[in-house]
Amino acid sequence: METYLELFINSFTGYGNYLLKEILNPGWGNYFYWLLGISLFFWLLEIFMPWRQHQAKIRQDFWLDGFYMFFNFFLFSLVGFNAVSNIGVQAFNDLLALFRLKNIVAFEIHSWPIWAQLLTLFIVRDFIQWNVHRLLHRVDYLWEFHKLHHSVQEMGFGAHLRFHWMETVIYRTLEYIPLAMIGLGIQDFFVVHIFATAIGHFNHSNFKIPLGPLRYLVNNPQMHIWHHAKQMPYPYGANYGITLSIWDYLFRTAYLPDDGRDIELGFEEVEKYPNSFKEQQTYPFRSKKLNA
Ligand SMILES: [Zn+2]
Ligand SMILES: [Zn+2]
Repeated sequence: METYLELFINSFTGYGNYLLKEILNPGWGNYFYWLLGISLFFWLLEIFMPWRQHQAKIRQDFWLDGFYMFFNFFLFSLVGFNAVSNIGVQAFNDLLALFRLKNIVAFEIHSWPIWAQLLTLFIVRDFIQWNVHRLLHRVDYLWEFHKLHHSVQEMGFGAHLRFHWMETVIYRTLEYIPLAMIGLGIQDFFVVHIFATAIGHFNHSNFKIPLGPLRYLVNNPQMHIWHHAKQMPYPYGANYGITLSIWDYLFRTAYLPDDGRDIELGFEEVEKYPNSFKEQQTYPFRSKKLNA
């Protein structure tokens, strides 16, 4: 059995090689070029069909958010998340073995057709994420991390991946057990990941397209902008949907009073929030609430 140390080192070098290979080999199954392509697609929409026409094409924090995009999609995994999560999974499986359990699969979906597995994974994970997102707003010390995502004051597609790396840890940890129960764990499925990334970019983009009744199912910029409203309608906000908007309609957390095109974004005293990457990373750890 691989030791934790070996696993740690292999995960690092394995991921480094993987990222290099991605960049050097463009192709249809390539995360790097899909992220680039999706970003370019929404940027072009923002340039040629903007919702807020007065907003600069290279808006406030455009490059900072571009860096966050690359950091959260790739670098964070490179600098440690992959290694730490591999160890977490190994430790979890070792713990199960102590109790003579091989896994915690409660519903076996591996025999289903692949499309049904992917659809199940997508819906289950989106619902879990909707719950985790609510938690990020409700629990004070989690909100200190999530504030970074809400510190965006001019909205655009790149804001999608502007978040603290702790969010990745929180989401992945809380997702793990429920997904392991359907036998999926941290396995990543390319199509699901790319689809969720595209809708996430769409939600944050400065773009308007009438979706008709589909808006009750899929999240969209006109709904998500209210999630970023400086004046939150309810004490803990609204419209927590990640890819699907249906959860907010089902659980009565949807809020779209009128056209939110020009509403003020952020939170109280957002002006005082640090605006450099480095300070934003350390902010939650310095925050009074966290150390109280
Ligand atoms: Zn939020
Ligand atoms: Zn957002």
